[in-house]
Amino acid sequence: MTKPVYLDNHSTTQVDPRVVQAMLPYFTQHFGNAASKQHLFGWNAEAAVEKARHDVASLINASSEEIVFTSGATESINLTIKGVADEYRSRGNHIITVATEHSAVLDSVRKLERQGFDITILPVDNRGMVDSQTVKAAIRTDTILVSVMMANNEIGTIAPLKEIAACCKAQDVLFHTDATQAVGRIPVDVCILGVDLLSFSAHKMYGPKGVGALFVRLSKPSIRLATQLDGGGHERGLRSGTLNVPGIVGFGKACDLAGMEMKEEAIRVASLRNQLRDGLSDRVGDVWFNGHPEQTLPGNLNVIFSGVRADKLMMCVKDIAVSTGSACSSGSPEPSHVLLAIGVEKQDAGSSIRFGVGRFTTSEEIEYTIEQFGEAVRLERERTLNSYHYQPGKTLHETN
Ligand SMILES: *Cc1c(COP(=O)(O)O)cnc(C)c1O
Repeated sequence: MTKPVYLDNHSTTQVDPRVVQAMLPYFTQHFGNAASKQHLFGWNAEAAVEKARHDVASLINASSEEIVFTSGATESINLTIKGVADEYRSRGNHIITVATEHSAVLDSVRKLERQGFDITILPVDNRGMVDSQTVKAAIRTDTILVSVMMANNEIGTIAPLKEIAACCKAQDVLFHTDATQAVGRIPVDVCILGVDLLSFSAHKMYGPKGVGALFVRLSKPSIRLATQLDGGGHERGLRSGTLNVPGIVGFGKACDLAGMEMKEEAIRVASLRNQLRDGLSDRVGDVWFNGHPEQTLPGNLNVIFSGVRADKLMMCVKDIAVSTGSACSSGSPEPSHVLLAIGVEKQDAGSSIRFGVGRFTTSEEIEYTIEQFGEAVRLERERTLNSYHYQPGKTLHETN
């Protein structure tokens, strides 16, 4: 086993060596601009991009023309939310989303709110589940967009997208999903789900950073998006800027691999996650698991180590990479908005750690993690017990 151990696969993933191999020729040999229509360098680059577009589209059962390449899920989400808001403002100014969304969604709608849009942020239950009837009830005649994430990046909960999409369709409202944590990990089929727009990213599925995609349904309804990046009119005029050819080739390869291996991988990853969950329960005791017991991502485990501060734990277990709260908001001491939304107390949110098992995780690494966290929690509890009165089941906070 090599250390440090990486268990933070919701933040990003290692690029699969097979993806790196596929990308390499596009840095040196085939370095052309995919928009150069007058020579072989450009044609080669364009052919590679179109092959990748096909592979990316196939993974989610879309057609190539429905894929817009971007710099990542953040950009896809911004293009969707701001693009729909700008384009459909004359029809209405109401947008619906959910409290547990990624900051790319929440910060985009907050900005629109400051510009006069009316934003509804729906609650979730204590497992992070949003109810499709709640969505249905929130839709008004002036609603122009509903955005609900497919799988949560902190607690793994998978939303009932099909039901939600049906509610939106019945009322002629566009439906977008942030499927960044879902694509490549669980089956995603835009036809079965019935979504209009879907955002995802290569680096969450063993591809490179800095490349993502937006699925935009071609017809019924035909969707107009106001561009957010203007220029040469690349990507059917929706997203100008020279294409990241090696990145896109890597994204295509990552999708290709996911399509072939996802089924077996999900079973293996879930079994490692279960090994971690059961090991922590047995070895550590007095732990709580956040999220949904069944409707969850295979590799996700979000744990509250009762009575122990997560940042203290992480200082004790330096050679295992995990995260507290969400990586995007870590660095700030604010408790995770996702945990607060599912009703976790502020002090318990500070005791939570997110583990993300992935393609390259081994059983040996899981055993080591159980051992290391077991020992660290025991020591921390002992230490706080000495200076304060720790009682199992109760949470201490701001002890020292
Ligand atoms: C990582 C992530 C994003 C942002 O993706 P980038 O490609 O890093 O911009 C958005 N939503 C979710 C759910 C994520 O996990």
